[in-house]
Amino acid sequence: MPGKILIVEPLPTTRIVLKVKLSTAFYTVSQAASLSEALLRLGEDRPDLILLGADWSDPDQGLRQCRALQGAQKGAPVPILMMGTDATPERRKAALRAGADDLIAKPANEAEMMARIRALIRNRDSFEGLHLREEAAAALGFAEADPTPFQTDARIMLAAPDPVTGVRWMAGLKPLLPYTLAIEPIPKLLKALSQRPAPDALVIAPAPDAPEEGLRLLAELRARAATRRAAVLVILPPACRDLFSDALDLGAGDVMANGFDAEEVALRLDRLLQRKRLADRAHQHVQDGLQAAVTDPLTGLFNRRYALPHLARVAEMSHRDQRGFAVMVADLDHFKAINDRYGHTAGDTVLTEVAQRLRDCLRPSDLLARIGGEEFLVVMPATDRKTARNMASRLCETLRRHPVAIQSRDLQIPVTVSIGLAMSCDFPCAAASDDRGQAMVQTLLDRADQALYGAKATGRDQVTLSPPAA
Ligand code: GH3
Ligand code: MG
Ligand code: MG
Repeated sequence: MPGKILIVEPLPTTRIVLKVKLSTAFYTVSQAASLSEALLRLGEDRPDLILLGADWSDPDQGLRQCRALQGAQKGAPVPILMMGTDATPERRKAALRAGADDLIAKPANEAEMMARIRALIRNRDSFEGLHLREEAAAALGFAEADPTPFQTDARIMLAAPDPVTGVRWMAGLKPLLPYTLAIEPIPKLLKALSQRPAPDALVIAPAPDAPEEGLRLLAELRARAATRRAAVLVILPPACRDLFSDALDLGAGDVMANGFDAEEVALRLDRLLQRKRLADRAHQHVQDGLQAAVTDPLTGLFNRRYALPHLARVAEMSHRDQRGFAVMVADLDHFKAINDRYGHTAGDTVLTEVAQRLRDCLRPSDLLARIGGEEFLVVMPATDRKTARNMASRLCETLRRHPVAIQSRDLQIPVTVSIGLAMSCDFPCAAASDDRGQAMVQTLLDRADQALYGAKATGRDQVTLSPPAA
């Protein structure tokens, strides 16, 4: 299930048209015709996104609704996408100020609207994954999240289409943002990033004659551990509006395609940074609070003690939200032979490097744990079969591609891994029989283990998917 959307809109015909469009894209849709109804639905349905009509009889009413929906939220914030006939730059900025993630014009360009919805829900999913870890930490008896206020400083890197434009934009943004701003041209950005601390946010504005260069850069930033968590705003030249959906699907947190407007850029950056700070704080809390008790000291990964309650919570949430998840058990091939041949210390270095490579492949919301000597558990929340299979193959590939180098001894040690994969959607009976998720967890672990034996028995260095329950 791709997610739950709450439509808040006074006009029944508009609600119906939107519901049909969203249902066709397999979203679960609930509706509200008034603010009070919307607040009720927000609490009961736990939507992943709110689509809020802006065309109420009084033009400021939509903004008031937005503020009220924003204020009523607890936990991982639910994104709000406003939609109205009067989507002028001024109204758009008013919507952003009121806490909306965007105001899109009605009638909406459907491809853009869907891309925007996908991106907002994806972003929230990864935050929810982190939030879950906080909850798992609390369940284990660790302290609640640190209530210290947010830091207000941030480093922003601006990649403008050309140097003159860069300087002009910088001058426009400086008085509006209390952050440290730096400019780099797109072709030099990756090099510049490798030489200084990673920025908190990047603004990427591709040149009109080479827009694909900007998109390639975006994919590259998302693939690198140092910049994966940075907030990214893409400013497309108006003539390249057809790349709007691509930019979002490639991992931009936000995209503008109406030209540069310093005030709007500042508002959007603020919003992206606010989201990033929440995610960072959840991340930091998990890092600090759990380190000693639930971390494996060799690899720095979570251990079994942490992984099992986390998996139970993912199962519970999946059952509640009707969204499938994936479980993988990954076991290094012939690892004993590596110890025997190169020694235990070299074996330890291999384990550390393997952990690092696997972690770098996975999404921030996925869990990677070391649950045995050379055995790892991967849990991917809100994931379908195809995504899980692709990821499992990538994990095999990332080990196979390069041997592990032991520099001090001039050694290159080839390493491969076998992976057993089980999908929650293949075992619905286990989910229904126990709402604490325990039965589901045990079934999936057993099935992933059996699939792993299959992968070992049929040649190793491969992925085996557990067959669905009969
Ligand atoms: P298979 O492909 O069937 O999985 O073979 P294998 O050799 O990987 O499996 P086996 O279970 O026979 O051996 C696992 C080895 O992992 C044995 C154990 O000494 C080693 N091991 C377990 N924990 C550690 C560790 O922390 N460091 C090192 N260096 N080795 C470890
Ligand atoms: Mg092994
Ligand atoms: Mg083993």
